[in-house]
Amino acid sequence: MPIDATAPYDDQNIFAKILRGEIPSEEVYRDEWAYAFRDIAPQAALHILVIPHGAYVSWDDFSTNASAEEIAGFVRAVGKVARDNDLVEPGYRLLANVGAHGGQEVPHLHVHLFGGEPLGSMIARRSQG
Ligand code: 5GP
Repeated sequence: MPIDATAPYDDQNIFAKILRGEIPSEEVYRDEWAYAFRDIAPQAALHILVIPHGAYVSWDDFSTNASAEEIAGFVRAVGKVARDNDLVEPGYRLLANVGAHGGQEVPHLHVHLFGGEPLGSMIARRSQG
């Protein structure tokens, strides 16, 4: 069910548990600012989730409340994951769902990184529901 992007951070969310190592995940990259792991239900040949270590509900929360250092570190980590996976050429897609209309399901900021194949049109057309 989509989340309320304005709700306070819930430290029992699934990605908080992954960060604490309480549930397993398939690590792709880790540094001081970010953790990247494979999505459990991939929607492209390569589907990686990149999350900050800090407790941020959404892109809105992160862009409002994170320090400049955290934001720079996180953005650089997303770019590095793409480069490390040889995605810059032929290309890839980043996506961050926010709140109910964005279809965000997990209330810890995550950027989806899709690649490894042509990804088609940017979003589902209205006629497709
Ligand atoms: P959202 O819809 O919130 O943008 O995306 C949540 C993503 O998290 C989905 O793509 C979903 O497959 C992924 N996901 C949900 N639970 C788990 C989990 O326990 N492990 C991993 N690796 N991915 C998960």
